[in-house]
Amino acid sequence: MFLHDRQLSATFGDDHAKRVLAPLESLYRRYYDETWQRYAELTVNHGGRLDDPPQFHVVHSPKSYPHNIRSAGEVAIIYDQHLGQVFNRLTALTLEDASPALVDCYLQKLFAQRCYVVGDFDSAALFGSVAYLMKSNLKNDKQQSPALDAMRSVLVGLQERFVIAHELAHTALGSSEELLTNCEWLFGNLVTDYYDLREESGASLSEAEANSQFWDDVDAAFMRRNPGATIPEEAKLAARSQKPTARSGAERETEQRLRADPLLRREFLCDSLAATSLLTGSKDLSEVIAAFVASTAALHNLRLLKILDGHIESADTDGNANFLTHAQDRLSLLRAMANAYMLFVLPAGKEHQPELHRSLTGWNKDFAAVVNDQLLFHFHPKTMRPHYLKTLGAEFFTIADQIATDPADLRMLLGFS
Ligand SMILES: [Zn+2]
Repeated sequence: MFLHDRQLSATFGDDHAKRVLAPLESLYRRYYDETWQRYAELTVNHGGRLDDPPQFHVVHSPKSYPHNIRSAGEVAIIYDQHLGQVFNRLTALTLEDASPALVDCYLQKLFAQRCYVVGDFDSAALFGSVAYLMKSNLKNDKQQSPALDAMRSVLVGLQERFVIAHELAHTALGSSEELLTNCEWLFGNLVTDYYDLREESGASLSEAEANSQFWDDVDAAFMRRNPGATIPEEAKLAARSQKPTARSGAERETEQRLRADPLLRREFLCDSLAATSLLTGSKDLSEVIAAFVASTAALHNLRLLKILDGHIESADTDGNANFLTHAQDRLSLLRAMANAYMLFVLPAGKEHQPELHRSLTGWNKDFAAVVNDQLLFHFHPKTMRPHYLKTLGAEFFTIADQIATDPADLRMLLGFS
């Protein structure tokens, strides 16, 4: 325990536990224990056994990602409460169909926080100040709807649970050959069965369809931000650089990568085990749908953080590149697994599968339209500097420079004090 404490302080700072909210910490512990118990039961059903779970620590730090630490041969899993706050904002923006200006303002702040994590305090202060300025110019006159608020709170809780369950799944699958074999068999077959079904029913997109859908999406993203205008050639060129190569049989290619790439396979298995562990005890199929939507929302949100990290020159991009290579495949595979789980595993799930399919597709579309398009097509921190910053007065930069040299002010600006 002592060693963990020292490592925690070294990684997350001496005050890592200071801002952890006690009720949330006990909630995370409950998720943790219940998930492990679920994995242990599954393992016993498959003829194996799991030992005690690894140690669990909750921190509140700017880092945000879940961590594993090892000391004296023991692994501990760390959950960062700040990740929940990020999930909360991104989920609220998506659900409320927030304006591009509001989304941009939050992306600037999130980017500033990511710069702070890697020690680039100048950029952190600059973008943090830009976010502050943007926010003070924004009028948020949207009424919070109680129904959306309730939905957000459910979806955020489930996303946090999914992340904790995903980390635990790595340990569980690494400790039991029986659990690993069975998960590979079940989740791998579900994906294959689902892709077979889509191919047979002609639901897979052809190359031409996928291409035209991409350009429709680009048009919609532009029109949303520039109503009534025609999309300029530069914007089309910029979009082309983001365009995935659409090919017929793309789903089959994802499936082949799943078979061929052991790292992707392990991430997919942990995603699947985590997502299905959220369903334990849900009799209500709307809860099942919420759990699968939240699991994919968590992957979308984590990917967004990694894309922002990719914009920071000084960031260590190794783990990042790995995550981003797999991100799209993990989303597609989790969606396929969820639909197949509903069709072939859950009793009475079959008739609700179209609803699940609609909900998952709906979340993808909404998240892309409201948040991700802003990031991909309009938010370029490196190129934004000369254009946007030129419009700000000298005083703005003097203040930002001062903040950069004062750790307490900087933490306050970024919401970490
Ligand atoms: Zn993982």
